[in-house]
Amino acid sequence: MAPKPGEMLHLRGNALNAGDPVALPLTQSSMYHLPGATDGLATYGRVDNPTWVQLEHMLSHLEDAPCLSFPSGMAAISAALFATVQAGSRLLIPSDGYYVTRLLSDRFLSRLGVEVEERATTSFAEGGFEGFDVVFVESPSNPGLDMIDLAAVAEQVRATGGVTIADNTTLTPLGQRPLDLGIDVVVSSDTKAMGGHSDLLMGHVASRNTQIMEQVEEWRRVSGAIPGPHEAWLLHRGLETLDVRYDRMCASAQVLAERLATHSAVRLVRYPGLPGDPAHALAQAQTKRFGFLLSLTLDNEDMAEAFINGCPLLRPATSFGGVHSSAERRARWGDDVDPGFIRLSVGCEPVEELWQAIEASLNAL
Ligand SMILES: *Cc1c(COP(=O)(O)O)cnc(C)c1O
Repeated sequence: MAPKPGEMLHLRGNALNAGDPVALPLTQSSMYHLPGATDGLATYGRVDNPTWVQLEHMLSHLEDAPCLSFPSGMAAISAALFATVQAGSRLLIPSDGYYVTRLLSDRFLSRLGVEVEERATTSFAEGGFEGFDVVFVESPSNPGLDMIDLAAVAEQVRATGGVTIADNTTLTPLGQRPLDLGIDVVVSSDTKAMGGHSDLLMGHVASRNTQIMEQVEEWRRVSGAIPGPHEAWLLHRGLETLDVRYDRMCASAQVLAERLATHSAVRLVRYPGLPGDPAHALAQAQTKRFGFLLSLTLDNEDMAEAFINGCPLLRPATSFGGVHSSAERRARWGDDVDPGFIRLSVGCEPVEELWQAIEASLNAL
């Protein structure tokens, strides 16, 4: 059953005792007071932290599944992969998803005897999944915003004995619920919309598979890839407003996508919420919201740079999901996209002001 996002604000409040602080206390301690028997007690800062526990309580509520938090999205992805692959495993990853996941697989997992294969998101299911031990998916893909049928992939991979992992960063659990579609493990960069204020890096792993979560917990404890208590505290605070921020961001993205699609300076707009978008039918079938990310393609690199830098309401920054709208040309990092391709992350600004600034910058090209 999907949790009600409004409950995020009250999760902590529901369990308070008289005199407790209303805001979550931040516990900065590597040591715990342990005179004698240690059963059931917090032992050491790499293993336990009360601020993580509260954060993970909230994340678990959002995911409707056990969750473990990590110091970045990549730390969460590493944990999910190290918990599921071994020498000789065959791993399938998207060729057009978040590029650091590919680097991790190609540069490190392959050296340990993991056989890594890549497929494009739009033709991901072609060739089937027989023989793959772990299938890693990203839908919508970042930055192309292509989608795959998560329920179909989950079913086919399970039928051949494999494990599925979905990177759900771009839509968040409020926009898409891969575990409910049969995916085994969800990973997320909470650096993006979950934190939402561009002031922290964090990530999490969610799964209803007890064995996998035990491995993920052991990986965190042994590898030392633990979140800092302050980041955990900041993420917890950000999550209290995720529902309102996300609602505004998705609603504004729809408005902007529709208007951008009719502007003469824009060659192409991709947004899953546009009826003509190649991902629209899948988005309607498997997502709750169409998200806050869109892309627009202008004629060339110079025009794209002039548009971004000429718009005072767009931060020219990499990363996305913050309260401030941001945009960048993805070709500058080597993504396989048109030189005039811009990923735009819609923030929480009033949409009419945002549109006026975007339109003025496009008109000035
Ligand atoms: C940003 C991102 C990551 C990595 O997250 P970090 O917090 O930067 O480590 C992974 N997947 C996707 C889709 C992302 O956008």
